[in-house]
Amino acid sequence: MKLETIRAAEARLLLSTYERNPLLFERGEGVYLIDENGDRYLDLLSGIGVNALGYGNPVIEETIARQSKRLIHTSNLFFHEGQAELALRLTERSGLDRVFFANTGTEAWEAALKISRAYAGLLRSEGRNIGTKFLALEQSFHGRTFGAVSTTHKAKYREPFGPVVPGVEFVRFNDIDDLNAKFSNEVCAMLIEPIQGEGGIRPVTQEFFAAARELTRSTGALLVADEIQAGLGRTGKWFSYQHYGIQPDVTTLAKPLAGGIPLGAMLCTEEVARAIHAGMHGTTFGGGPLACAVAIAVIDTIEREGLLNHVTEVGDYFQDRLKALATRHDSIVDVRGKGLMLAAEVNSADLGKLIVKEMLRRRIIINCTSDTALRFLPPYILQKEHVDTAIAALDEILAEH
Ligand code: PLP
Repeated sequence: MKLETIRAAEARLLLSTYERNPLLFERGEGVYLIDENGDRYLDLLSGIGVNALGYGNPVIEETIARQSKRLIHTSNLFFHEGQAELALRLTERSGLDRVFFANTGTEAWEAALKISRAYAGLLRSEGRNIGTKFLALEQSFHGRTFGAVSTTHKAKYREPFGPVVPGVEFVRFNDIDDLNAKFSNEVCAMLIEPIQGEGGIRPVTQEFFAAARELTRSTGALLVADEIQAGLGRTGKWFSYQHYGIQPDVTTLAKPLAGGIPLGAMLCTEEVARAIHAGMHGTTFGGGPLACAVAIAVIDTIEREGLLNHVTEVGDYFQDRLKALATRHDSIVDVRGKGLMLAAEVNSADLGKLIVKEMLRRRIIINCTSDTALRFLPPYILQKEHVDTAIAALDEILAEH
């Protein structure tokens, strides 16, 4: 089917949840996507933060081929070797002890919310004074299920589906006074993306994160870090909370975890894991043999190829070049991020949209989140020459508009 035929069929047959760009990709190679006409696009978004190893990685392809010949699915009623092997890799790197596998980020997040409530219930049964309230952050994004949208700040994701899950309060981003005012024994968990993704690549401050850690520790409430966008090496460390030296009680992973095969994970401490018993929570597909085998290959490849250091080096170079660009163009008002999770904030939503469109015309894929944050989440294998190409294109567009 050609693009126009697909477009017309989708317009009739699909829920209109996405405004798609009029492009039909057929395959990928390294950091490039190749469309139906053979045109190559530099992908600085990696899906949306998914294709960390780029496209056509032979280790991923061979792992999928090998595992699909052995076993694609067995239910969670039986053992297979992938979950324990993957959990070992994740616990070794996260400072946490136990893992629950899900299929998506949202589902991993849902597990984090449920275990937080269950743990508070366990503490109450042991005589502790702790409530059921969640404190989330303004501009946060945690996914699309009811629990996830209820803890997501943007009204357009929540309000059409109301009433949402009760017991959530939002704290102003990086505002310690607001945090102090809203924190009490009623809180069962404080929910933080250490670097907000959809909110515009906004890092929490060291002071705010530390205050959240201290307050939660003082009452037995949990500190929950959403690493679905920032985690698994994107910022140059396995988990973005490791830049702060702050250890959460619970974290979540998904996007790049299994190289494009859906897989999410919720990790927690041994102490928190006491709250869940067999039958309380589960999933049909989560942690299947195929997804686990690929995730093991992704982690081992990141390790073997020294990609954490590479992400730091190319990410610093990218950030420096964006900052230099900002000195030449007043319309870039801020540059921020860590590793290969970067944003250049522009001074209007219209300009943001125009730049994304103009970049696409030059066959470079980026997007604009939170209205004005041009977002870069490229594959970890990005090279400096790709950064130079992107900067030259941005320079040209900004000079013209
Ligand atoms: N949490 C964060 C920080 C995210 O960036 C996302 C997705 O963008 C999610 C949760 C939801 O993940 P998924 O789309 O896999 O359900």
